[in-house]
Amino acid sequence: MPALDLILLAPHGSSLRSLLAEGAGHERAGYMLFGIADIARDPWQGVSRRRFISHTFEPVSKSDQVSESARHVTWQTDGFMSLLSQAMRAGMVPGIVHTHPAGVAAFSEQDDTNEAELARTAKLKGLPGLLSLVIAGNGDIAVRYWQSESKKTDIARILQSGPNLSLQDCSRDQPTFLDRQVRLFGEASNNMITQFRCAVVGGGATGSATLPLVMRLGIRCAAVFDRDRVEESNLNRLHGATRHDACRHLPKTELHARLVKEADLGMQLVTVDAWAGSPESHEVLKACDVIFCCSDDHAGRLFLNRFARFYGIPVIDMGLAMQRRQNGHFDLFARVTTLVPGHPCLLCGGHVSPRRAREEALKRTDPGAFEQLKAEAYLLGEGDPSPAVVSFTSEAACMAVNEWLSGITGFAGKAGMSATRVRRFHARDDRFPQFEARPNCPCCQSADTLGRGDVLPFLDMVN
Ligand SMILES: [Zn+2]
Ligand SMILES: [Zn+2]
Repeated sequence: MPALDLILLAPHGSSLRSLLAEGAGHERAGYMLFGIADIARDPWQGVSRRRFISHTFEPVSKSDQVSESARHVTWQTDGFMSLLSQAMRAGMVPGIVHTHPAGVAAFSEQDDTNEAELARTAKLKGLPGLLSLVIAGNGDIAVRYWQSESKKTDIARILQSGPNLSLQDCSRDQPTFLDRQVRLFGEASNNMITQFRCAVVGGGATGSATLPLVMRLGIRCAAVFDRDRVEESNLNRLHGATRHDACRHLPKTELHARLVKEADLGMQLVTVDAWAGSPESHEVLKACDVIFCCSDDHAGRLFLNRFARFYGIPVIDMGLAMQRRQNGHFDLFARVTTLVPGHPCLLCGGHVSPRRAREEALKRTDPGAFEQLKAEAYLLGEGDPSPAVVSFTSEAACMAVNEWLSGITGFAGKAGMSATRVRRFHARDDRFPQFEARPNCPCCQSADTLGRGDVLPFLDMVN
């Protein structure tokens, strides 16, 4: 039996809370579907892991409800049978939800009896199991998974993913070096921060600034993805790199592994010598709770843009644009975009170029054809290397990590993470541009893709 956890996406979390409110003191019920993310071997614990990601929510209609009170709810099962058929067709896991407006987030004996019967029906239909959620009047949520009518497992680890982030997990002893941080955020938020499993995609300028930040925030499980080696031209901005590392072209992942080991702050770092989109990265990314996109490659960004949608894992993307114009004026921008349900994606914001992404993919898969197009000057991307200065790249990393912290702690207000924040260093200001999602965006506006989890082909992408 794999380790189980659950990702509850913001729109479904608010539907659960509305169900409580609509019941006005009486119990109510609803149906959900969940996508599945299977991880054959968790990169930190080594065990197999199955994550459920919320995909849809539908309240049981008033007319289907047979009886209800503050302590019970019963409803006709026609809707349940149709939920099972939908789950079968989609290869997803069905879920039932009910509220405990006056009670606690724990299952009653009556719940045990009712759900065992529903779990039996689900198994007879050929489904892998049944999820059950209960939300209490105080907002606490409990989840369990019925593998069969006689076998159920409580799911303790719940990530709520949206502009606001929360992570429920068994709390562990907090490292004492975090005392000053606890004084600001308090025990509960601090505990949550340290339980997030963080991916840093790209171990270059912004990645090498992000990784030590999450390490000093007390993160225990992290992963870094990069397949480049240290070059002399990186030394102006690659934190931790020495001249010796550049001379022997040390892989960037090895540099980061060394720094983490030397610091000895309890962070376990997994290194992946591959770009985010390659198959060897998928499992590690699927096991994470937040992904910092520190790469300037458009193909990687486009991949993570879609990945965030399918797996419900928040992706925090950062980008820099720096130039000095002919008239001597500077344009210096750092951008942070948070990819969570409810925020427009990178395509809608125009922050990623599908054409550049195609060129990068071509360079990887067919270098000959790429060189030919380059010679014919058909390519957008390949110009001189763009300028980069350490104080700006490091500040972009701080902005991104702080955005994530605002989602957990609410330090910048109840709305949590902003969708996009742009810092103009040359104008000494911050802007929060409002992008509307494009009505037909294939990524962030398709109901099918939200929390879809594993599908074949991966992310439903051909090539
Ligand atoms: Zn109950
Ligand atoms: Zn979009």
